[in-house]
Parts: sequence; C-alpha cells; structure tokens
Amino acid sequence: MKVIEVRNLHFRYPRSRTPALSGVSLSVDRGEMIGILGPSGSGKSTFLLTLNGIIPHSIRGEFSGEVVLRNPLTGEEFKTSKTPVSKLSTIVGLVFQNPESQLFNMTVEDEVAFALENMGLPRDEIEERVEWALGVVGLSNKRDEFPPNLSGGEKQRLAIASVLAMKPPVIAMDEPTSQLDPMGKRDVERVILKLRREGITVVIVEHDSRFLFKNADRLIVFDGGRILLQGTPREVGARVDELVDLGIKVPMSLLLSHRLGLSPVFSPEDFPSRVSL
Ligand code: ADP
Repeated sequence: MKVIEVRNLHFRYPRSRTPALSGVSLSVDRGEMIGILGPSGSGKSTFLLTLNGIIPHSIRGEFSGEVVLRNPLTGEEFKTSKTPVSKLSTIVGLVFQNPESQLFNMTVEDEVAFALENMGLPRDEIEERVEWALGVVGLSNKRDEFPPNLSGGEKQRLAIASVLAMKPPVIAMDEPTSQLDPMGKRDVERVILKLRREGITVVIVEHDSRFLFKNADRLIVFDGGRILLQGTPREVGARVDELVDLGIKVPMSLLLSHRLGLSPVFSPEDFPSRVSL
C-alpha cells in the first residue's frame, strides 16, 4: 500500500527566483525505508516540509502538483494542500536536524507527553505511550531528567520519542545524526533501525550516505530540485561517479568496489574475503 504519493510537485519560495522543487513525483510504500541524498540546496529539506503540509500551509510560496498521504490503518486519503497540518502530522511525524529546536519541556517524560495531551488522549493511554516510546529509544531510565542536560544523541532520541508517541505511520527525518558525535550517531541509527522493525515507514535525508546505502530499501538522489536518480542502494551505487561529482559523501568501500570492478560493497566488513585491502 502506498502511504505517500507525490505527483509533479513544484515549489518556489517567495522572493526566490528559482524553484526549490521542480516536477518531483514519487511514491512510498508502507514499511519502506527511503534515503534521500543530494548536494546542499538540492531541495531535500523542502521536500520533507511538503510531506506534513508545513509547505504550503505554514511556509507559503508557489505550490503546484500534489502530495497525498494515506493512513494505512484506515485507508483514508488526505491531500496535503486541503488538510490542516495538525491532521497531517498524525500521519507523517517530522524530526529535525537540531533536536533542541523541538524540545521545550521540563522533563523527558513531559516532553513526550506534551503532544499527546494536546491530542486530548486519556491519561492511561498517555502513560502507556510515553513508556513505550521511551522504551523504543532507550530512554526509560531518563524520564525525570531535564532535557537540556541530556547528551546530543539522547536529545535526538527524545525528539524521536516525542514524534513516535503520536504513532504516525511515517516518520521523516532531516539529517537526524549530522550534529551528533560518533556514539550519539550510532545510538540514533540503532533507533532508526528499530523504528523500521516496528513497521514504521521511514524517510531520511542525510548528507553522509553510509548508513543509508547499507540500510535503506530505496535511495532517491535530488539535484537542483529534481529527482536525478532513484533505485535500490545497489542500483544507485552503480552510479557512484555521478554521486561523487555531485559532492555526495559515499562509503569508501563503495568507491573501492567500483574502482575494482566488483559489485557494490556498502561497508568494509562486507568486502569479499579474496580481496585484500
Ligand atoms: P537541501 O535540504 O537539499 O540543502 P533546501 O530544501 O534547504 O535544500 O533548499 C532548496 C533551495 O531552496 C535552495 O536554493 C535554498 O536556498 C532555497 N531555500 C530553502 N529555504 C528557503 C527559504 N526559507 N526561503 C527562500 N529560499 C529557501
């Protein structure tokens, strides 16, 4: 079942001469993990903002084409241009690059409960969801902490828990690990893989493509507001020279396997043993 369908999407910011998105069409299946790659300014963040209606409702501009979300549980369809963000965000939850921009409560627990209270859920259900979401991201033992005291990785996992607790079938993330140290990055990546195992559809924009090459079902490469390439990591990996030309950071093992004429290898431990490096 398709949970997102984007048809011939164009968007131009006010006062901007060139469009940020031009003729973007794609669909996302339930349970897929999609990686979005592309050089800086290629339209990746703008694209994510169209998924839960921030564009065109909160950020206005010249918008045409359509984005349709489908709730996989009920089959209901919502055209983003005609549906309020409050409704759309129950289907697509957005996590941003800087977790601090999403955290503003006094305790970890309150942070996760906040949106649920606004949704008007009963107390018992709020408790249950908070416990579940903190468990998924591995923060159950930090419930009473003051969010600014958490590490960068913990803050990002808290931001993910706050979105997850709303139980959106799709979670879209804009460079969720780019500001984290290696340990924080690894912990957040583990959580992302766990979300996928929970059956959540995940759309991730990342500048560093290593995690996505290894784990995504499909990669989509943006350039100049258009989709330049899309396919499985294997298919996109076969075009590694184009990715490098675009300035996309690709896994060293992919470059190497390409140069050696091997089929694409996405991480060093997957190199065939007969190749000595
Ligand atoms: P990416 O996420 O790939 O770096 P963006 O979606 O942020 O790309 O940007 C796409 C294009 O839209 C760029 O040319 C950028 O300068 C422009 N842009 C992004 N945000 C705004 C904004 N708020 N107002 C005007 N132009 C913007």
